[in-house]
Amino acid sequence: MTYKTLEEFTDYVKIAYSGFIKITYNDPSSDYIKKIKESLLSKELDEGKKNELEEMLKKVSPENSFSMLLDTIKDKFLSKLSIFNNEIKNKFLIANINNNEINACILRGENSFYAILIYEGLFNYLGEATKFLAASNDPKRVTFCEGYDINELTSKDYRAMFDSMKSLYLEKRIQHSPNILLNSEGNMQRAFFLIFSELFVICHEIAHYLNGDLENENLLLGMLDSDLQVLEEGKNHDIEYKADNKAFELVCEIIEKTNIMPPQLILFSLLFTFDVLMLLNVSASNSHPSSYNRLLNIVNNFFDSKTSEMVAKSYLDPTIIDIETGYFQTVPTMMKTNT
Ligand SMILES: [Zn+2]
Repeated sequence: MTYKTLEEFTDYVKIAYSGFIKITYNDPSSDYIKKIKESLLSKELDEGKKNELEEMLKKVSPENSFSMLLDTIKDKFLSKLSIFNNEIKNKFLIANINNNEINACILRGENSFYAILIYEGLFNYLGEATKFLAASNDPKRVTFCEGYDINELTSKDYRAMFDSMKSLYLEKRIQHSPNILLNSEGNMQRAFFLIFSELFVICHEIAHYLNGDLENENLLLGMLDSDLQVLEEGKNHDIEYKADNKAFELVCEIIEKTNIMPPQLILFSLLFTFDVLMLLNVSASNSHPSSYNRLLNIVNNFFDSKTSEMVAKSYLDPTIIDIETGYFQTVPTMMKTNT
């Protein structure tokens, strides 16, 4: 089987993986989607923008929202990378997979085509986890929490909801939590954590490609009867650390070029991302370096020694991680020298 275009390759991957489909996440209720659409449309927008938004929202449904998100990430963010045009644009498929045994993976096809597959439950979970994190930072940011009176909910309650959703995801890879909506300030804070963690997951896979790991036959596994070969995640600690470092550089490059978030929030976002990944690694692979070591590897490489010490300490005393204190508002060293 040969494929000459990205479209043909996409169809090939879809068919090769069709036996692996499992649906394990809960769709947002139509009621909830209606509420989100209403809140988006209630913003003050000029008539043209409003019509545009209405048209776009008509296309959103639980079935296609994830692939639309991946397309947006590719078009708006990955396209800013200096390596994008020549190498990634026409050769990389970035798609969702409904298989809860995979979080994210990269595979190699023939003719230098590559596919990054992301388990949609993971991004679904990240999306909800960031809301509960923003809510527990400040409960006043919550405007709706299904089944509760928001006036009676405290930081601790949102933290408890966050913890129970984490353990459910860890055990069963199911995302389930009360539907919740935030005000614009809460959504803004949450958006930083979310886009960072999504970009980091995708860039980690791109980094394996850039580091040449997909040329190393010892790391690849054949996929059934297809000509696809998947990179075995976490087989070698050194390779994972290198992929994390490269991924962090790529995410910082995107942040610098798009100004999507203040650089002072990068470290917080990194901590959040690893809090989530820490859970995922437990069942992912015994040989995979621990999340704690992976996080410290990045921090040691890209932040000053005082910050590394503080991060290491914060795992002994989690109260140090408090967004309002400013402890962690340190900019990565390479971004400092650029400004
Ligand atoms: Zn990896």
